[in-house]
Amino acid sequence: MPEGDTIFRAARTLHTALAGQVVTRFETQYAQIARVHHDAPITGRTVERVTARGKHLLMAFSGVGGRQSAADDQSRRLRVDGPMVLRTHMLMTGSWHIYRTGEPWQRSPVSARIVVGTAGFVAVAFAVPVAEFVEAAAMEDAPALARLGPDVLAADFDVDRAVARLAVSTRPTVAEALLDQTAVAGIGNVYKSELLFLATLWPFTPPADVPVASWLRLLRNARTLLQANVVDPRETGVVTYRGMRRTTGRSNPAERLYVYGRQGEPCRTCGSPIQFRHHGEHNRSTYWCPTCQPAPSAAP
Ligand SMILES: [Zn+2]
Repeated sequence: MPEGDTIFRAARTLHTALAGQVVTRFETQYAQIARVHHDAPITGRTVERVTARGKHLLMAFSGVGGRQSAADDQSRRLRVDGPMVLRTHMLMTGSWHIYRTGEPWQRSPVSARIVVGTAGFVAVAFAVPVAEFVEAAAMEDAPALARLGPDVLAADFDVDRAVARLAVSTRPTVAEALLDQTAVAGIGNVYKSELLFLATLWPFTPPADVPVASWLRLLRNARTLLQANVVDPRETGVVTYRGMRRTTGRSNPAERLYVYGRQGEPCRTCGSPIQFRHHGEHNRSTYWCPTCQPAPSAAP
């Protein structure tokens, strides 16, 4: 499942390739998106910016003919003439790819859900299960975005607000609370296990029992780790990122994670075998060290 850093990198790559460019090709398999394109074509509009919000990717288009807003134009009923934002969410399966015009695609065109082409590039949303157009002016009211908690990767990330939301989470465990995008946006299943290890928290602790100091530590680490994974050494070019996620700060791929995916292997701190359990609403996998992250009954 893509985490906040993956979406952030995808948005940055798409922005570098597409921002300021006029759309010359637009195709979609989604009815709501096709209807907007039919009523007020996306071709001819300018891609204004591509950004990430939590795990949502937002592609903003100018209004038709550079129109700033349709809301004050009484003669037009179709507000889709104004600036529009394409919101997509990858869930488990989706991904955006960017290709230079004419470059072969790496996934089957059959799974292409949205295609946005400019003179130089073509962006393809493969198997993206959630996509809709929203009016730019009303974007903040879109339910999927309005519900989001503070974004770990946002420049104005409010750690106190995120802690306040997490502390009252109704999820049964801290592991599940960290994945609740309405509490804090951007943390996925891999980082969840890594962050709990770094905070020496037993993953099945009820959120109400987590000390504020531990929440702060979790979130500061989340921001540090996610930001470290969005640093692009090749800022100037358009390169699809294929690097591996790291949390240990080591470059050897075999050493790149503390606990995630390491069931039965020795803890990097104490040598205890790493434990593994599926749990929760979506049967997500959680990895932890029973010594560094003891259950309350086993605590010294
Ligand atoms: Zn350990």
